[in-house]
Amino acid sequence: MISDPPSRLILDGTALVANWCWLAQQSGPAACGAAIKADSYGVGAAEVVRRLAAAGCRDFFVATWGEALALGRLPDGASLAVLHGVRESEMDFARSGVARPVLNTAAQVVRWKAAGGGPCDVMIDTGMNRLGLSLDEAASGLLDGVMVDTLMSHLACADEPGHPLNRHQLEAFHAARALVPARRYSLANSAGICLGQEYAFDLTRPGIALYGGIQNEAAAERIRQVVRPEVEILQIRGIRPGDSVGYNATFIADRPMRIGILNLGYADGYLRGFSGTGCALAAGKRLPVIGRVSMDLTAIDLGDAPELQEGDRVTIDFDLPRASRQSGLSQYELLTTLGRRYHRQWS
Ligand SMILES: *Cc1c(COP(=O)(O)O)cnc(C)c1O
Repeated sequence: MISDPPSRLILDGTALVANWCWLAQQSGPAACGAAIKADSYGVGAAEVVRRLAAAGCRDFFVATWGEALALGRLPDGASLAVLHGVRESEMDFARSGVARPVLNTAAQVVRWKAAGGGPCDVMIDTGMNRLGLSLDEAASGLLDGVMVDTLMSHLACADEPGHPLNRHQLEAFHAARALVPARRYSLANSAGICLGQEYAFDLTRPGIALYGGIQNEAAAERIRQVVRPEVEILQIRGIRPGDSVGYNATFIADRPMRIGILNLGYADGYLRGFSGTGCALAAGKRLPVIGRVSMDLTAIDLGDAPELQEGDRVTIDFDLPRASRQSGLSQYELLTTLGRRYHRQWS
């Protein structure tokens, strides 16, 4: 282990918990869970679970059994659900009780029943046409005898509050609720929570907003940034007017410049959309990315920060809505593509 890792993700544990608390409060009487799939959107699932469980979160969601396995033992009182359901080869693991499958298809339901079942969750498709049983399947008797812990559905357009599909899905979910007895009902993701308490039912399932993503104006003032990449200046150089920087010489200096080369590139999830648009931050100054982002390296203009030296660190502007506009990536893509080279460090 290198004692002083050159690239770090500084993760704000206080902001993570504050975001969950705000989402829990917005969920009203409903319990508030946490989507921790894709290693908690790249942030690191084990630490997120530990911190949110300590704050009172009890319901966690991963996509796959591999993710459930990687997580290991959950804190006491916490439960885990696996959103992709259960394949034949996963039945033994699923029946061991580590997590509940979220059954999505008739074949999954039949498989679970044939094996003697146990508590499970069920996904109903209410109009997204992604995973889940149709309302007709739910009404067909297929679920008779299944111990449904949580009946859930997922919103397609919750980040567009005026979209008619939101209402339509809400009504379809009420219909599903009348058909399928379950211990709890759950519909809202992060953006769904901001649509109002009628979307909250018994349990909400925020993901992106926990990690600083903002899908909605109401959240903009309350959700705090969690992830800040911090990288090092590997080299400083002076360039002259007419000199170019980086692959394909897309940037050409029109004046003498002092530039810094950072240990950051698209292999770290800093994709090429940040070329000429991204920004590093140091001592309150914004230092623009110049030229093309390459695999491991990115150049910035040090004109406004003459005090910076080789070996100094800069923070990368990773305010998610702004970084999304800069790069053309969604806030989800920004987090889930963060590479494995960062040392993840909680503050
Ligand atoms: C990913 C996911 C969530 C969380 O969604 P966000 O938009 O990140 O809040 C909730 N429910 C299901 C089924 C999901 O797949």
